[in-house]
Amino acid sequence: MKKLFLAAFLQTCIILCFAQLKSPDEFLGYQLGIKWTPHFKIVNYFNYTASNSPFNMKLEKYGETNEGKDLLLAIISSPQNMSRIEEIRKNNLRLAGIEKGNVFTTNAPTIIWLSYNVHGNETSSSEVAMKVLYELTNTKNLATQKWLENTIVIIDPCLNPDGRDRYVNWYNSQVGKTPNANVDSREHSEPWPGGRTNHYNFDLNRDWAWQTQVETQQRLKKYNEWMPQIHCDFHEQGINNPYYFAPAAEPFHEVITPWQRDFQTTIGKNHAKYFDANGWFYFTKEIFDLFYPSYGDTYPMYNGAIGMTYEQAGHSSGGLTVIKNDGDTLTLKDRIAHHFTTSISTIEMASVHQTKLINEFQNYFSIAKNIGYSNYKTFVVSKGDVAKTNSFLSALEKNNINYERVGVDRNNAAMGYDYNSGKEVSITLNVGDIVIQSKQPQSAMVKVLLEPKTKLPDSATYDITVWSLPYVYGLNAYACKTEIISTGNFINTPLVNLKTNYGYAIKWGSVAVASFVGKLLQKNCIVKFAEQSFVMGNENFERGTILVLPSAKNNMNDIMQLASANSIQLYTLNGGMVNKGFDFGSEKNHLLKKQNVVLLTGKGVDANAAGEVWHFFEQQLNYPITLINADEISDVNLKNIDVLILPNGRYKFLSDKDASADLKTWVRQGGKIVAIDNAVAQMANGDWGIKLKKADEEKKEDKNVYADVKKYENRDRDGVSGNIPGAIYKIEMDDTHPLAFGYNKNYFTLKQNDNVYEFMKDGWNVGIVKKENQVAGFVGSKLKEKIKDGTVLAVQPMGNGSIIYFADDPIFRSFWENGKLLLGNAVFLVGQ
Ligand SMILES: [Zn+2]
Repeated sequence: MKKLFLAAFLQTCIILCFAQLKSPDEFLGYQLGIKWTPHFKIVNYFNYTASNSPFNMKLEKYGETNEGKDLLLAIISSPQNMSRIEEIRKNNLRLAGIEKGNVFTTNAPTIIWLSYNVHGNETSSSEVAMKVLYELTNTKNLATQKWLENTIVIIDPCLNPDGRDRYVNWYNSQVGKTPNANVDSREHSEPWPGGRTNHYNFDLNRDWAWQTQVETQQRLKKYNEWMPQIHCDFHEQGINNPYYFAPAAEPFHEVITPWQRDFQTTIGKNHAKYFDANGWFYFTKEIFDLFYPSYGDTYPMYNGAIGMTYEQAGHSSGGLTVIKNDGDTLTLKDRIAHHFTTSISTIEMASVHQTKLINEFQNYFSIAKNIGYSNYKTFVVSKGDVAKTNSFLSALEKNNINYERVGVDRNNAAMGYDYNSGKEVSITLNVGDIVIQSKQPQSAMVKVLLEPKTKLPDSATYDITVWSLPYVYGLNAYACKTEIISTGNFINTPLVNLKTNYGYAIKWGSVAVASFVGKLLQKNCIVKFAEQSFVMGNENFERGTILVLPSAKNNMNDIMQLASANSIQLYTLNGGMVNKGFDFGSEKNHLLKKQNVVLLTGKGVDANAAGEVWHFFEQQLNYPITLINADEISDVNLKNIDVLILPNGRYKFLSDKDASADLKTWVRQGGKIVAIDNAVAQMANGDWGIKLKKADEEKKEDKNVYADVKKYENRDRDGVSGNIPGAIYKIEMDDTHPLAFGYNKNYFTLKQNDNVYEFMKDGWNVGIVKKENQVAGFVGSKLKEKIKDGTVLAVQPMGNGSIIYFADDPIFRSFWENGKLLLGNAVFLVGQ
């Protein structure tokens, strides 16, 4: 009786509340599609709807962007489900085995998560978010109300508000009284860096697993609390393309189950039905593959969900209206209609197939816990530098991966694959090593992120082909086909720094230490680094060790406190004489200088690459950096600059004789250039001292005379023999050069181009690639022969200055952790 009364009461409330609920058109005062809605108005509409639909909807602010804009999640369902929403959420985590406790399956609603506008200049989808919200909270819409009885819909109206507003504000400032459909009109041509990325020019749809950006970090925390059964990621593509929805293209990662493939098709067929009825074109099974783990479709797939990508035509150059190649006009209204249709059609499928979705979701995680998805049973990652190890552990935690720490040393624990040598070896467990079992709820993620090699069933993919975390973090690891159980309790000894009467030493080996040294330099402390290794007491100190020696400028107490606050281990020094190596008064210990660092940005520069460096300095190294547009470099007084960083890009001034001469004069006077990726290739065309290595000529007798006879149908597939979408190469390091300090003999680089340089005769070949040094990932057959016997990390001394060449991006997408210290070395240690 009580229940009946409550239901009637809720019904009355709902009718009263919804009697006045305004549609987006009514609320905004214009029809959706007539103009762009700035982010704050989208937030206003979500707030408005939340306060007028208290029984159907909950609105959460889950964070803020770099520019201070709100990140929102709307949770929408029937009043009955909303009244027990926390119970449903917890039950869902229990279904996955992430939380413990009894589960219910029969009345467990399906959870659908709709992510809009991850790419800021793919702008139609946040407009759609408002329309979807309205139709879900509008009680007069009987279809949606019925579906919400067994579904929970989570809407993130805009994953990238900074990028969206960058586009919208720019567009509004360019458009005339009437939008111009001529694609040549300026409103269809976005300026650098474009609205696709976030504040730091990061592509948030490459960041799911790595979570380097604040938007992703805050969102994934929420995602892990919900673990939806379906996730949809709304995008836009070029204006001339038809709509794309899953089923996806090959390659599929082998961990994706037949059920996940099938249900993508089930949803896709439902979309096709609506698109056919309207005469709208679409394609499936092409271009958008399911491999790289940091996308809005693959990441949910590897977390037990059905991940869907939707691509509407119109990104960036679409404006409000545009004439396409076929003469037809594409309007924002069309774009909204298409994305709205796939949104609603997905919710419909989630409702129709609720029982099956819940059962399959539970089954997916049951296999994960009881059998495991990897061919390996256990992964052992050796403890390394403390900061490096901690950042690896944080990557596991961000992805909900369980691990143990070894408490007792053990020899010959098992045989396993050694990531460093590529051979089967006997594994020794040392206290503090990390043990990760395949059998656990996140087993698919364990397989995807930790296996040394990823099976690539088809070589034409959209992205890099390898990302195995031990290489990414530069830690030794072993993959083992038998289960290893770690024993003993690992006790993490807290860091204690002691007072000193003389000075301190700090071991070099992580970005954390580089950041700390940067702080000391900014405080005008006197800091040196040791060129050679030394022994003091019983402690061995490798090359690059930082020395804080007695000086009026070094307040040792303050330094000790700063180190403890930053979790930096200090070693107390008692005097200037060492047991082995050079004493502290020796010239082999070099003074570090405060560096004024400039990063070139702007037109011609790869915005992502520039963003990585910007983010690295501001958010990780916490060291000041000045951004200057490359076009304006000739107007800048170079004397005020110590380090000039050229990220991947095309630089006009490098082909200009006068500008190059000025730059060389500045280098000879002590300046330092750090050139990365294509900037190096461009300098190799000039007379900077570095030369691109040409591929060996194919031997005549080996040449297959029919090699050029190709089948027309295979043209896409033949093209991949000249591709290197991203593979790991072992680089052999000259570990006596400051650029290599903090690294061992080897560094694993992510190679995304085929550029290898000739050995320098009057420079330092700090990192070289030999034959057979490819470790993992796909490299096209034509390129395999080229990437060998050359230099990829080099330093060219020039007068009092130097040029540092990185053939590959050492901090790609900011997830390639192990390369970050190279940049720290380049800025602080090289040339001192
Ligand atoms: Zn996109």
